[in-house]
Amino acid sequence: MNVMRPIRNVDDLAQAGLIDAGEALSLEAVAERYAIALTPAMAKLIDRSDPADPIARQFVPDVAELVVLPEERADPIGDHAHSPVEGIVHRYPDRVLLKAVHVCPVYCRFCFRREMVGPQGLGTLDAATLDAAFAYIRDHREIWEVILTGGDPLVLSPRRLEEMLSVLADIEHVKIVRFHTRVPVVDPLKIDGALIAALKVSGKTIYVALHANHPRELTAKARAACARLVDAGIVLVSQSVLLKGVNDDPDVLAALMKAFVETRIKPYYLHHPDLAPGTSHFRLTIAEGQKIVAALRGRISGLCQPTYILDIPGGHGKADIGRNAVHEIREGCYSISDYRGGEHIYPPAE
Ligand SMILES: *Cc1c(COP(=O)(O)O)cnc(C)c1O
Ligand code: SF4
Repeated sequence: MNVMRPIRNVDDLAQAGLIDAGEALSLEAVAERYAIALTPAMAKLIDRSDPADPIARQFVPDVAELVVLPEERADPIGDHAHSPVEGIVHRYPDRVLLKAVHVCPVYCRFCFRREMVGPQGLGTLDAATLDAAFAYIRDHREIWEVILTGGDPLVLSPRRLEEMLSVLADIEHVKIVRFHTRVPVVDPLKIDGALIAALKVSGKTIYVALHANHPRELTAKARAACARLVDAGIVLVSQSVLLKGVNDDPDVLAALMKAFVETRIKPYYLHHPDLAPGTSHFRLTIAEGQKIVAALRGRISGLCQPTYILDIPGGHGKADIGRNAVHEIREGCYSISDYRGGEHIYPPAE
């Protein structure tokens, strides 16, 4: 078994011992619809003796993906409704998404943009389209932050990243550049001196939002890659998706958040899974999610608390869906629930 080669199709999965021959045939139908990829680092992390391995569940295709529910949609968070020019999503006044690439080093089976990413996806913006996207950012002085996402922007070469960032460096009103990526975890050796040098732009503050969902993903190599970024002055925050069979357990989630904080990554968002096609086997109810998230409050440090978020279908943006601890009883008088579920009147009656 050669685990040093990226896995890109059903044959590779079978050769790596991640699926058995009987599964291969039925998974071809999944492969026709949705891209497959695992990096050597992730293939190595999978425990082949565990049929419910949480790493495998994230990356190894499943026939359940062929089940599409009526409420699921190709563009679950409504990117399209807010795209003024190709590659840009401008939903909130002060920040835009710049989707320059639609390729990832791994393809997550629950991906919210699964209809847009992969070899058959929207590809990489050509030079003219990218110029038009930058012109849009330049022309809109209210844009304070540019979020490079996709796809995974860190699949680009350091040279390409440097070119893009040097354009942003010249746009004065842009102060923050944020990358959404999985690379430090799934391909940690890619975070080398050349890449880090490319990410540093004079006059801009760089944030990296790292996507990881299970504490085992934060291997020693992944933690070292994150440390290189933080040591270079880049601020790291986390993004995770709450996924059935991966991290829908307060103990697992607590271990994940603690691993982030130990790695100098501030937990940022815990996303409720989006209504992407063929992903219902990953979704739990919001009430179940709230219960898991509420259990974190008493269990781990405040530094470890993420915000539980739903991207409202149709392009209405993100909403904080953590359990609301405050209820107004009458004007100026509230009932507040603590992490154990106890109720307290605020202000207290003497
Ligand atoms: C999620 C998202 C953002 C970023 O939102 P934050 O709350 O700032 O992390 C920006 N624009 C769009 C279109 C988004 O979907
Ligand atoms: S890395 Fe992000 S964009 Fe790429 S497949 Fe995973 S969730 Fe989708």
